[in-house]
Amino acid sequence: MEFEPVIGLEIHAQLLTQTKIFCGCSTSFGAPANTQGCPVCLGLPGALPVLNRAAVELGLRAAVALGCRVESTSIFARKNYFYPDLPKGYQISQYELPLATGGHLTLPDSDIDIGITRIHLEEDAGKSVHEGYLDSDRKTYLDFNRSGVPLIEIVTEPDMRSSADAKAFFVALREILVALAVNDGNMEEGSLRCDANVSIRPDGQSALGVKAEVKNLNSFRFLERALDHEIARQHEVLSSGGRVIQETRLWDAGADRTAAMRSKEEAPDYRYFPEPDLPPLRITEAWVDEVRRSVPELPAATRDRLRAKYGLTRDQAEQVTQIRPGLAPYFEELVEASAPARAAINWTLGELTRKLNDEQTDEVGVIRERISPESLSRLIVLVERGTISGTVAKDVFEKMYVEGESAEAIVERDGLAQIDDANALSGTVREVLSQHADAVEQYRSGKRGALGFLVGQVMKATQGKANPKVVDKLLREAIDG
Ligand SMILES: [Zn+2]
Repeated sequence: MEFEPVIGLEIHAQLLTQTKIFCGCSTSFGAPANTQGCPVCLGLPGALPVLNRAAVELGLRAAVALGCRVESTSIFARKNYFYPDLPKGYQISQYELPLATGGHLTLPDSDIDIGITRIHLEEDAGKSVHEGYLDSDRKTYLDFNRSGVPLIEIVTEPDMRSSADAKAFFVALREILVALAVNDGNMEEGSLRCDANVSIRPDGQSALGVKAEVKNLNSFRFLERALDHEIARQHEVLSSGGRVIQETRLWDAGADRTAAMRSKEEAPDYRYFPEPDLPPLRITEAWVDEVRRSVPELPAATRDRLRAKYGLTRDQAEQVTQIRPGLAPYFEELVEASAPARAAINWTLGELTRKLNDEQTDEVGVIRERISPESLSRLIVLVERGTISGTVAKDVFEKMYVEGESAEAIVERDGLAQIDDANALSGTVREVLSQHADAVEQYRSGKRGALGFLVGQVMKATQGKANPKVVDKLLREAIDG
């Protein structure tokens, strides 16, 4: 029998606020353990939470961008459970009335629409650091720096039908959250993590099968592998006449499999009830409108527009909008300032990207500070007009970056203009021919590639200033007679 997988995701994203959700403690990552805490986030008796407006604002940005309906009133609730890294004995979350409901995200390059059930605000717990393997030396340390860091949880409908869909959704969602500056997308540091609900059902059956929840998938690859494993496991259980039990499972990356963590019967009863120390969260339509106006164009829409407007390939549009948020605007400004789109995209994905790699930064502003798009477009135009060669332009770019001078000033000062004049080049051509008689012989005996070598030698001798087309012509004339 054939089975169809049914997958829903729950994604926790840390909001990029300076301070925690209910107190003024810093949220910065990497501080020494237990240096970012206060009576509120350590859960001391009598301390009262005060909601951080910036956290709500970021939650709203995500909600609006994902097409959700923002609820005019939402309620914070206590989710009660015991764990050493949760000093209050409860987590403040939202339960019955979340921040937003009913959005969706269309998977890129497809018409698969994934429903978003809800987005709610909550605080993170602290972190348990385990050490040692033997019972005799096993220790657990607690770090409360993360306790009270603001999160949104995004819950999807069970609309995905394969691990590839689930991965595509997580990739697209991450890109949106990063573009919105809601989340830093850093899965290694745990600021974005995913739980997956997965079940399978016989083809043609509309009722859902029994699901398992796989927790804490902190990379795209782990999500895909854990789902593949879980789908195969459930398939095997059902095919051999067994039944899947509802349970929570953990992904063991080392063993490349999921393992049972607890069954439904063992699942904690969180005894949710409204948080008595926080009033209902009321959001006006004016606030939602203000947030809506501040939401930038989303990456997928930018890609479609760049392809239609500038004739970029799918690949180019993807590269220029991914990883570095400032690259696409820089490219567009190059074109607005007179560089042809074809050359502008090559420069953006070529020299600009190389420079950012050299500087080990994703901040396009680092380049913008030294070379404005206006200024770089003038360099590109010099190449387009044939005033300088592409090779020389790369050196000029480097000098512009270091010295902050204009392209024209550097070309003028260093005498870099391309040499088109056949008379000016004929001496160098003769010299190269006499020094490389063997290459000339090879060319004559039919090795056409030898000509490229000779052109290269002339270019080298002129520090890249010779016009390669003129050199090519001169060499042919000299050799062929
Ligand atoms: Zn605090």
